[in-house]
This record gives sequence, structure tokens and C-alpha cells, in this order.
Amino acid sequence: MENILSGKSTALIDMDGVIYDSMKFHAEAFRRLFKEEGVPGNPEDVYLYEGMRGTDLVNMLYVRAFGHGVSEERAHELYELKSKYFYEIGRNEPMEGADRMLDALKQHGLRRILVTGSSQAKLLDGVNRDYPGAFLPGDRVTALDVVNGKPDPEPYLKGLSIAGVPPEKAIVIENAPLGVRAGKAAGVFTVAVTTGPIPREAFEQEGADIIFPSMPAFADYLSSLPLEK
Ligand code: MG
Repeated sequence: MENILSGKSTALIDMDGVIYDSMKFHAEAFRRLFKEEGVPGNPEDVYLYEGMRGTDLVNMLYVRAFGHGVSEERAHELYELKSKYFYEIGRNEPMEGADRMLDALKQHGLRRILVTGSSQAKLLDGVNRDYPGAFLPGDRVTALDVVNGKPDPEPYLKGLSIAGVPPEKAIVIENAPLGVRAGKAAGVFTVAVTTGPIPREAFEQEGADIIFPSMPAFADYLSSLPLEK
């Protein structure tokens, strides 16, 4: 297999579904919101739209369920409810293999930058505890740092500017189709790791450069690469 790290200096790394096995908790929080608000629809859809800003996602789920969206104010209210449920049920469950993935990137001399569409303090506050030393202070882009969330390239462009490197020097690591679209739109080589229920084809359609079936498989691949002198 090709060496995807050849000539790369920076890894732009998504959080939910990449370093945390958290998507199931987001889906569960949406399930509760749907139930309590009487919204028909499948909470599993959140996997497909992962990466969007929370209020945009709520609005879109309402459009799908009722044929019309909600006011911005209502979208905020509903998203806060969803966040409250997530806070109650969500745990900081590190993704199996993510620690080895991060270590391998370091071994190969890559600077690691966290790029997440999330603003969930619960997970963000845990990153330094769960992955000590993986990310330098300031090496993170969250929902609070951008105007346009994924699939807009802005979050990944911001990550590149933090690192001060052109897109050719970086890789993006994603688990969501819209995240892959954002990485590709930023001009970056984009790795998709299918850690959830979304089929491989969805990542192919978004133009993922390489697709791994699980995080342990991706970590194994990285560990197998020769170190460049
Ligand atoms: Mg993700």
C-alpha cells in the first residue's frame, strides 16, 4: 500500500467518531429529543449529517420531518435541549485504536491538530486528559472558531493556517461523509475511517482518498509504514 504520510507534516484530526466513540450518544440524545418533541424520523440520520453545526442540523431534521424548518431561536432552544441530553447520557469513551493512531502520527513527525464541528465542552475538556500531550495548546479548531461548519472547508482551512502549511503538506482524518467533503474542499488528502454505520460507498462518493474499515485497522497501517529519515 502507498505511504500516505510521505511528504506530510500535519494531521488534521476530527473528534466525534474519530478519537471518541461518541456518535452513538449523539444519536441517542437526538432520539430523546425527537421523542419528547414528537418529531417523526430516524435519529440514525444524524450519522449522515455529522459535522454540520448543531442548529443547522436541527433545522434540517425538522425540514425532513415536517417539510419546513424552525426559527433560528427555536433551533437554538432545541439544540440546547439535545446538548443537555447528550451531557446526561454521553461519556468520554475513547475510540479503540485512536491512541495508537495518534502515537503513530507522532512517530512519523506529524503535528496533530484537532478540527471538530463540535462545541461540546464535555468532550473537548476531556481531550487533554484522555490523550495527554497529543495536541499542543492552541492546536484545535472547534465550532466556536468558525462561521461555517463542515461541509464548508473553513474548519480545515483554519487548521492549515494554525499549522502554517499548504494543503499538500497535510492529511485529514474523518469518519463522516460531510467531513470528508470539507477536507476535500480544503484541498487536503482525506482519510475516511468507517467507525459507524455509514457504508463505505458514501465516503467514496465524497471523494475520500483512502478508506479504512476501523480505527485499529488504520492504526495498524500507520504503524507498518517505514519511518522517513
Ligand atoms: Mg466525526
